[in-house]
Amino acid sequence: MGVEVLRNYINGEWAASTTESFLEVRNPALDEVIARVPLSTPEEVDRAVAAAQAAFETWRHLPIQTRARYLLRLRDLVEQHFDDLARTIVQEHGKTLEEARGEMQRTLENIEAAAGMFVSLMGYHTPQIADGIDEECLLEPVGVFCCIAPFNFPAMIPAWFFPYALVAGNTYIVKPSEICPITQNRLFELIHQAGFPPGVINLVNGGKDVVDALLTHPGIAGVSFVGSTPVARYVYTTATAHGKRAQCHGGAKNALVVMPDAELGRTVPAILSSAFGSAGQRCLAGSLVIAVGEIHRPLREALVEGASRIRVGYGLEEGVQMGPVVSRKALERIHRYIEIGLQEEADLILDGRGIRVPGYPKGYFIGPTIFDGVHPSMTIACEEIFGPVLGILQARDLEEALSIINSSSYGNAASIFTRDGGAAREFKRRVRAGNVGINIGVAAPIAPYPFSGQKNSFFGDLHGQGMDTLYFFTDRKVVITRWF
Ligand code: NAD
Repeated sequence: MGVEVLRNYINGEWAASTTESFLEVRNPALDEVIARVPLSTPEEVDRAVAAAQAAFETWRHLPIQTRARYLLRLRDLVEQHFDDLARTIVQEHGKTLEEARGEMQRTLENIEAAAGMFVSLMGYHTPQIADGIDEECLLEPVGVFCCIAPFNFPAMIPAWFFPYALVAGNTYIVKPSEICPITQNRLFELIHQAGFPPGVINLVNGGKDVVDALLTHPGIAGVSFVGSTPVARYVYTTATAHGKRAQCHGGAKNALVVMPDAELGRTVPAILSSAFGSAGQRCLAGSLVIAVGEIHRPLREALVEGASRIRVGYGLEEGVQMGPVVSRKALERIHRYIEIGLQEEADLILDGRGIRVPGYPKGYFIGPTIFDGVHPSMTIACEEIFGPVLGILQARDLEEALSIINSSSYGNAASIFTRDGGAAREFKRRVRAGNVGINIGVAAPIAPYPFSGQKNSFFGDLHGQGMDTLYFFTDRKVVITRWF
């Protein structure tokens, strides 16, 4: 059987791309080609936008409950195919089945949260603001929105946006990552089964050409982006220069502060799972530990001991705790950063390079890697590595730990481990990061809360998920009424 060639989904139909450029999608544990993804053309973007614009005129006028019901049908279909989708994520991304199931759970929760949002979308009303006069605010859909997604959560990240956009009455185009596009293609099979009217939601596979066509297209009202910081900045400036709304989530370098009074028995597993879950390829991964005071030595020993016991392998196999990284290119980048760390004279206390996984000789594996003696000015402390590499820094006190975190150019997440409520409160109030954990290693907001990021981790003002989407995906119209 030949390798599957992925297709676009435009105006309610599957269509082979007319492009001559394709990329191979590989299973990172096996180094085997599992699909070919088209780098679609700007003309295909034009067709998707035209279909979404035409569908908008009808979709926007459907009762909110009807729009929500399509999402509920999709939700049920996703639940029925939950495990197949999770397995697809493992095959194209490399994370473990348990991690992929966690991602699917978050995908479902976003569809549910959006479907339940219609009450908020009804707007608000104040009677008798003056004698005989009433005032109301209507929340109206805007038009065609699109999402440009990264590779690391191929199911969940488009679901931070499209369900909310649709329930609000907009129409939509998803551009999945060209590195992990298969899961989104499978989800669109369910979208098709859910029976959304043609053009309401479309899928265009591709890379930079598709992104540029979306960012400059006069028919697109707004863009939701998730990916690395340089591309987030580019997407934000280009989209806004073309008069579009934009919410652009970028990269991260998240620190986990461990206070001297932290309970190590619970703290160490939380740090290990934060740093090495999904092989470190999460924007909320803790990639730096800041050890405050005398906790440094016992913490460092416990981290090395725990990380050495993490079982690395193919994510579909029972008992595997960490899969490969997504691509050979990613593996090479991570190796380069480890070399940089050594040149900067950080102390490599656990080296995951050269790990062998029996049965998978060609997989893109690297084991948990830990540097101690990391200084805040080192490249490995400042740049996002996006792999299973953890750096340990030391600070005298909370003040110094906060100053290290707050001088980072990123502001996605930060955590503190402590038994001291006063220290936790100080940290929560003063840390410059959008997602804050207190004795939590991965501070991932559930669907009704915004996925907040600050500084170079986010460009825009209204974030993905939660009530922010209510405003991102609507125009407000205030009507003041007097009847004579
Ligand atoms: P990426 O920036 O390489 O790609 C993201 C998307 O942008 C893809 O769809 C890709 O096709 C497109 N793209 C890539 N280069 C482009 C260019 N030059 N011009 C226009 N479009 C381009 O990111 P990735 O490697 O897929 O994902 C990993 C990154 O995403 C990490 O930096 C991670 O921190 C970040 N991320 C952030 C969040 C968050 O919420 N802040 C969540 C998940 C991932």
